[in-house]
Amino acid sequence: MSTGVSPETSMQKPTSKVGALNLSRMDWLTYFSQEKMPGFRATQTADWVFKHLVSNPEQMTNVSKDIRSRIADNFDWSLPEIVSALDSQDGSTKLLLKTPNGQYIESVILRYEGRVSLCVSSQVGCKMACSFCQTGKLGFFRHLTTHEILSQYMIAAQIVRKEGRRLSHVVFMGMGEPLDNYDNVVKAVNILVSPDGFGLSARHVTVSTSGIVPRIRDLARDARCALAVSLHAARDDLRQEIMPINRRWPLADLKSALLDYQRETGDKITFEYILIREKNCGLREAKDLMKFLHGFKAKVNLIPFNAHPGMPYDRPSDDEIRAFQVYLAERSIAAPVRYSKGLDVSGACGQLAAKTQESLHMAPQRKNVVAPKNLNLLA
Ligand code: SAH
Ligand code: SF4
Repeated sequence: MSTGVSPETSMQKPTSKVGALNLSRMDWLTYFSQEKMPGFRATQTADWVFKHLVSNPEQMTNVSKDIRSRIADNFDWSLPEIVSALDSQDGSTKLLLKTPNGQYIESVILRYEGRVSLCVSSQVGCKMACSFCQTGKLGFFRHLTTHEILSQYMIAAQIVRKEGRRLSHVVFMGMGEPLDNYDNVVKAVNILVSPDGFGLSARHVTVSTSGIVPRIRDLARDARCALAVSLHAARDDLRQEIMPINRRWPLADLKSALLDYQRETGDKITFEYILIREKNCGLREAKDLMKFLHGFKAKVNLIPFNAHPGMPYDRPSDDEIRAFQVYLAERSIAAPVRYSKGLDVSGACGQLAAKTQESLHMAPQRKNVVAPKNLNLLA
């Protein structure tokens, strides 16, 4: 466990104030104008947040004292508390964060040679109930606000900056289904990729979805980012067994939305495919996958299932993984094998917070079973 990392702002109790990181630069300008405060002060404030990663108005030294105290009073600047920061041997750091209302989320800093990436959560828990996923087992608690999503970026970026590096990539692959929290996620993505915001490259911000078809279509219009799809099976009977969402939006609907997405954005789509022993990685499943991929300029990431207690699945042998990969490679689909990072500090995204939440016996607001017919994911 590492020590000495703390967000550069004080903790607060739950508050009804608007989170400061909900505001884009344009929102700051609008607010300052409404409050009859000079526009250049709005620019200074936004520069502190987006360029200097400052999340405490007291540190905004070129802003007048009066304005600093007004924005401190009018907005919630608190960041989630870092409950633990677990450093993995592979260079990743798993952050367990506690929201002001006492719920747990997690983010993972992934350090590579040429870049540092952050895996963020978009919800506390998840409604989708995928059978292999620890977060899915938890059920759904609530959506995160844009402020809470970007707080994860702010906290991690402050840590990474102390190491002399820049947090340049964000993947929405932590807890939750990002497209089920559509508005807050899209706003966060747009602030991340805007040159007026945190200024990341749109290609470096990836939203991963289990396949909420109407929202995939909306996303092509509303945000500039990369799209990853958690496929995990390319045959309806099998996919709906492990991912209940497939009953609501079967593969044909998913494919049609993704082909439209590809046409509209010109982007390559990344498919995530967890390899689960004796489930989805035999020859038949490899053929199904090839058939599904027809028409895409796709990338496929193969992720050996990351086992955790209480799950009825296992990881395939290295030979089985290799055979699946070779089948795709021989048909011109490059499919690198990606191992979940941070296995020694609670494995795949969702595991640490899920463990903590479970150990606290927190009850979800909804049952974690996705009903096929009356499913109302977007409520
Ligand atoms: N809900 C979104 C994003 C979060 S899940 C989605 O499903 O795409 C992030 C990734 O972790 C998904 O690809 C998910 O399938 C994967 N994952 C979940 N449990 C896993 C496990 N036990 N082993 C390996 N990957 C897992
Ligand atoms: Fe939710 Fe993604 Fe886990 Fe499925 S894999 S339960 S969509 S977080």
